[in-house]
Parts: sequence; structure tokens; C-alpha cells
Amino acid sequence: MELENERKTVVRFGLKMVASGLTTGTGGNLSVVDRNTGTVAISPSGIEYGVLQPRDVVLTDMQGRVIDGEAKPSSELCFHLSLYHRRKDVQAVVHTHSPYAVTMACLGWEIPAVHYLVGFAGKKVPLAPYATFGTPELAEIVAEYIGNYNAMLLANHGLVAVGSSMDTAFAAAEEIEFVARIYYQTKSIGHPVILPDEEMEIVLEKFKTYGQKKMGDSCCR
Ligand code: 13P
Ligand code: ZN
Repeated sequence: MELENERKTVVRFGLKMVASGLTTGTGGNLSVVDRNTGTVAISPSGIEYGVLQPRDVVLTDMQGRVIDGEAKPSSELCFHLSLYHRRKDVQAVVHTHSPYAVTMACLGWEIPAVHYLVGFAGKKVPLAPYATFGTPELAEIVAEYIGNYNAMLLANHGLVAVGSSMDTAFAAAEEIEFVARIYYQTKSIGHPVILPDEEMEIVLEKFKTYGQKKMGDSCCR
């Protein structure tokens, strides 16, 4: 099967998206791109993640023409493609309807740096204006508002996260849902303290070497 690994990745992370509570039913969608061949593996439209098989994952070219797969591709294929065209560093896109992020998106709020993990998106999580799901208008808006961010809110709709791999795009979706929840909770009982831009610049720098990436500065003075 063509792009078997990529198709399996889409199936695996679709299941993870439901298990992590980042979406319900058939909401949201995911894709990965093979930049060498210009082929995108994207989840099919309206099929529950629990029954998805690798062959149900649709392969398209960068113009959205189906190369392989019986199913109809996600209705959001256009915005996945617009992100791959706009951001050459992006190899995976995750779109969720995660409840706290959607709460902010339905209030028409961006998410500020209420917690340093907002750095998974950037210095904040921007908000793109509303457009009907599955339309070229939404694809244009998504490409315009993503800038250099790795996650963004779609007004009255959901969240989009991008990354250099499915692991990083998914991690961004998961961590931004956490930050959205913290923002909701802090707003509910008080006044959240927002980290200044300068601190977020330090955090973003530290993220470059976080975990098992190459060694950062020691914390010891
Ligand atoms: P698809 O099932 O077509 O991917 O649509 C789900 C969705 O979230 C639309 O925005
Ligand atoms: Zn959606």
C-alpha cells in the first residue's frame, strides 16, 4: 500500500485524538505530507476514528487531486493544503474540536500567555475569523492567520495545530487544550497573570533544546 506508514500514522493519531478528549464523533481531521513526492495522507470525511483502517486514509497531490483511496477526503482538505503551501516547515496538520479551545474560539478570544506552555503555539494562540467549514474562504483565512504560529483558533469552530511531524503537531494540539483550560479556569475565579512577551521569548528559545534535543544551557550557575 502506498504511503503505508503515513496512513498508519493518521489512523493511530485519530484514535489518540478521541482517547485524549480532543474531539468527539467524526469531528476534526489530520494529515501528513510526504514532501519528496508531494503526497498528502489525510483522514476521510465523516468516518469515526474507531473504525478507520489505513486504506481509508486518502492520498492526494498538493492540488487536492485524489491519488489513492476509495473514501472521500476530509472536507478540510483545502486548509490542510493551504498550510502545506504556506509553511514549508510543516509536515503534519491536526484539527480538533477540543472543548476548552473551542470555548475560547466561540467567545472570539485569543489565548494569551497565561501559562508558559502557550509556547507550543508561539507567544499566544491567535484567533482566525469565522468562515464556513470546508470552504476555500476558510482555507484562505487559515493560511493568512497561521503566520509563524504552530497552533491557532478558528472562531466558532476549533483548533488547528501544525508541526514538523505528527508527534509535534499533536503535542501542540494537546498542550494548547491544556492552556485553554487553565485560561478558562483562571478567568472563572479571578484575574489570570499573563507572562510578558520578553519571558515568552526566553521560553521559545528554551523550547528549541527542550527534552532530548541537543543540549541547552545548564540550569546550574
Ligand atoms: P471531516 O469529517 O470532513 O474531516 O470534517 C470534520 C470537521 O472537523 C470539519 O471542520
Ligand atoms: Zn472542524
